[in-house]
Formats: sequence, structure tokens, C-alpha cells
Amino acid sequence: MMWETVIGLEIHVQLATKTKIFSGASTAFGAEPNTQACAVDLGLPGVLPVVNEEAINMAIRFGLGIDAEINKVNVFDRKNYFYPDLPKGYQTTQLDKPIVGAGHVDITLANGSTKSVRIHHAHLEEDAGKSLHEDYHGMTGIDLNRAGTPLIEIVTEPDLSSSEEAVAFAKKLHSIVTTLGICDGEMSQGSMRFDVNISVRPKGQEDLGTRTETKNLNSFKFMEAAIHKEVARQIDVLEDGGRIVQETRLYNGDTGEARSMRSKEEANDYRYFPCPDLLPVVIEESRLEKLRANLPEMPDAKKIRFISDYSLSDIDADILSGNQATAAFFETAAKLSGNAKLTSNWVLGEVTRSLNANDTTIANSPVTAEMLASLIARIKDNTISGNIAKKVFEAMWNGEGKDADEVIEKKGLKQVTDTGAIETMIDDVLAANAQQVENYRAAPPEKRGKMIGFFVGQAMKASKGKANPGMVNQILKKKLDD
Ligand code: ADP
Ligand code: MG
Repeated sequence: MMWETVIGLEIHVQLATKTKIFSGASTAFGAEPNTQACAVDLGLPGVLPVVNEEAINMAIRFGLGIDAEINKVNVFDRKNYFYPDLPKGYQTTQLDKPIVGAGHVDITLANGSTKSVRIHHAHLEEDAGKSLHEDYHGMTGIDLNRAGTPLIEIVTEPDLSSSEEAVAFAKKLHSIVTTLGICDGEMSQGSMRFDVNISVRPKGQEDLGTRTETKNLNSFKFMEAAIHKEVARQIDVLEDGGRIVQETRLYNGDTGEARSMRSKEEANDYRYFPCPDLLPVVIEESRLEKLRANLPEMPDAKKIRFISDYSLSDIDADILSGNQATAAFFETAAKLSGNAKLTSNWVLGEVTRSLNANDTTIANSPVTAEMLASLIARIKDNTISGNIAKKVFEAMWNGEGKDADEVIEKKGLKQVTDTGAIETMIDDVLAANAQQVENYRAAPPEKRGKMIGFFVGQAMKASKGKANPGMVNQILKKKLDD
């Protein structure tokens, strides 16, 4: 039987506000445990929450950024449950009147086609604290610094049909929230966490299969692996005549193991009710207008502009526009160097390769956009060849010069374009390879094109790669064919 995968995502995005959603406590990452939770975050008796206006603005910006409806009256609810990392006894969230209504996010697939993924809604809520199991043998540590951190939870329709699509969507969402500046995008710090709902069904069947939910994936890699594993498990169960139990599952990215956490049958009744301490949020049209007017250029618009302004291919424009920092790096270097095509090749080639090899990000690249532009300018004006440029790049990467000119000067890499010097070098090469010269001259013209490569190689080697390859070719032809 052929199976079809159906995936819907729920994504928790930490909003980049300075303070908590209902208190003035700091949201900064990495503080000593339990130094950033105040009486409001702990829900001590008698405290009253005050909504952080900036959290509301950021949620609205998200909605506007993906062309979604904004619910001009939205309501906070209490979701009641007991857990050690939730001393309040309830999470303040939004149940059926969320701030952001239906919208869509478009993704580009590997084959170049576009798919529109429907967003069901996005709601505001507070994060809980953190239970720390690793460092306390036989005990659990509780860090409440995260309690009250503002989140938006984004819920998609079950529109995704493979791990590739899910990852493409996750990356696109990352790009959208970082472009909007509403989230720092630091996945390893938990700034974006993905819950993945997965089901399978026989190909052609209309009804959805029973789904499981794998919670709290915080890297694209883990997400992809977790989906593969769960899809395979579900197909195995069904093909063995079993049935899928609707349950919440955990995936451990470090060990690659997955297990059931709780089944839906024993799911809690959360006794939701509107929070009596918070008024409904009413959003004026004038506020929407102001926020709309201040939206940055979104990734889709940027992609279209890159194609028209810089004549980039669709796929190159997609990658370059897909990450805010990469896009800015590319544009700065393209403008300074005056050659967008070469810049695009270098950003997608050497720069990306070096970043990956060193496990770092473009924001921390030792070669800045300005330095790359200086390199491209020297390729363009024939000071260095493409091959030497790679050496210059490597040297700049290793901190051996503030720009290309300094490295070229220091290492003596300047391209030789002096006709006399190249001729002397070529004469030496021809003298040292008399037999090959004879063979070449005896060969029919249609074979010579290939044979000349040997001499070019020798001449380039003799010049340590510094001779201008075009001139070497030209002078060699002249000398050999005469
Ligand atoms: P609940 O009310 O139990 O939270 P929802 O209907 O809100 O369930 O759906 C939660 C998430 O699960 C959404 O992202 C939705 O797209 C996804 N989803 C729902 N049904 C399925 C299914 N059969 N297979 C895969 N994903 C699903
Ligand atoms: Mg739900």
C-alpha cells in the first residue's frame, strides 16, 4: 500500500521584548536561575498582571507580516493545570479569541515550485518555567526565569506532506520572525520550538488518519529526523494490522530515540476560562495602520526584488533572501563590489562553505561584507584570478589582513599581466617540454585545443598561479601555432 504523510505544526515563538508579558521582570537569556521571576510571574496572592504593549505590537506585526486577519478584540484565558514549573497553577493564554486569525505562509520546494501553507491562527501566551533534570542527580531543579516570557503560538492547518516541506516551512517562519525583529531566532536557546502533529493515510483517502504530536523540537535537523522516525513507526504499526493511538510523544535529538509521553485518553481537562484580571485587548485601526506602515521588507518581497535588481536566478534569490543576515551581507557586498552575480556566487559558495565548516553564522563571519567586496573588486579588475582569490579569502578568514589588498600585497599574489614576463616564462616551459611541443605541432588542429591545456597548466604552475590565465592562453597559442 502507498502511504501519504500529513503534518500540521504548532510553533512557540519567544517574542524579543525586554520584559515579561505581564510584569516588568527581565527576559534576558542566561541569567542565574530564579533571579528574573517576580511576584507576578509566580502568581503570588494579590498581584495583578499588566499587559506588555510591545508584546501585543509584536503579535500584530506577525499577523500583518503574513497577511493574516487581526482580531481587533481578543481575550486572555486561563489554562489551569499543576506542574512544578508553573507555580501560578494556570497559564495565561488565548483560547478562542486569539490575536491573529487565518493567514498563510508560502514556501519554495526543492523542485522550485511554491506551496501555500494555511495558518489557522496565532495566539499570545506566557511561557512556563523550566524543569532541569540533567544536573541534579535524583532530583529536579526548577528555574523560573522563563516564567512569563511572551510567546506567540502559531498553529498551521495540516497542509504539509513531508519532512522536507515541514523543514522548509520552519525555515521560512524563522526568516519571517527574524526579519520582523519580533524574535531573536536563537533555536538552541529555545527561542523557537516546534510541536509536530503527524498522521499517515492510504494514498487517495480523504479522511485524515489518527495523529500523534511530538513536542518541543528546537532544531531543523531534529525535526526532520523526528518526522522520518514517526512516519516509519506509524506505517509499521498500520501494516502490522494495529492502530495509531492519539498521543503526545517526545523525541531526543541526542540519542535519536522517541517515546510516548501521554495518551490523549488521559489528557487533562484544563478548565479554560477568561482571565478575570485582564481586560479584553482592543486594537484601534490607527494602531494597525501605524504598525503596518513600519513593516520591514518581508522575505518574499525581498526575493522578488533580488531577482529584478540583481538578475539573480530564482533559486539563488530564494536562498539569499531567506535569511535576514545573509540578505544584508549579500546586498552590502554586491553594492560595494558592483558585481552582484560574482557576489552571489561567493556568498553561496566559499562564504557558506566556510561558515558551515566552522559551524558559525554569517553574523560572526571573520570575512565581512566589506572584505568580500574588496576581494570581488580585485577579481573584477584582473588583479587576481579566481583561483588566487580563494587563497586570499582563506587568508582573510584566518585574520591575515583587513582587506583583499593587504593580503595580496603581503603575500605577493598580484596577477602577472606583464606581457614580457609571461613570454619569458612560457619560453622556459616550451624549452623544458620539447617533446610535447613536437607532438602538439604534429597533431591535427582539432586535437590541439585539448593539448594546449598541458602547457597552460605548466605555465600557471611556473607562475605560482599568478599569471593572467587569459594572457597565458593567448601567448601560448601564438607561440605554438606559429
Ligand atoms: P487540538 O484541538 O487537539 O489541539 P487542533 O485541531 O488544534 O487539535 O490541531 C492541532 C494541530 O494538529 C494543528 O497544527 C493541525 O493542523 C494538526 N492536525 C490536526 N489533525 C491532524 C492530523 N490528522 N494529522 C496531522 N496533523 C493534524
Ligand atoms: Mg490545539
